[in-house]
Amino acid sequence: MPVKGLGLYDDQNVFARILRGEIPSRRVFEDEWAIAFHDIAPQAPVHVLVIPRGRYVSLADFTAGASDAEIAGFWRAVGAVARQLELEAPGYRVLVNMGEHSGQEVPHLHAHVFGGRPLGVMLAK
Ligand code: AMP
Repeated sequence: MPVKGLGLYDDQNVFARILRGEIPSRRVFEDEWAIAFHDIAPQAPVHVLVIPRGRYVSLADFTAGASDAEIAGFWRAVGAVARQLELEAPGYRVLVNMGEHSGQEVPHLHAHVFGGRPLGVMLAK
């Protein structure tokens, strides 16, 4: 489903290529629904990206078009990644950029998982 500003799903986007193993990533998790890997330009001591295996451009696309099983599988993977990385006790932040105003760069849905230090205010003033 097209999302304004993002277009149709591009099978050559960088996360599609990571999913297919065509370019390297530092994977920390994978299951039937999602994979997770370290962000190439971390903005916190822990900065991991969780992406669904399905071809979804954005959160808008995913919430409109994914099955209940895909949606459950993806969010359970986000929780599992944080647990595996021992972020539950200290706490962590999950962030999803969607579309132009958010600055979303890669047109494959991804949740950023940040942790490893106090993360400060949610948005820059
Ligand atoms: P966003 O702005 O929400 O679309 O975030 C895209 C994220 O993808 C940024 O934090 C980038 O550093 C990250 N990124 C881009 N290319 C790669 C890559 N090849 N491997 C890991 N992370 C990447």
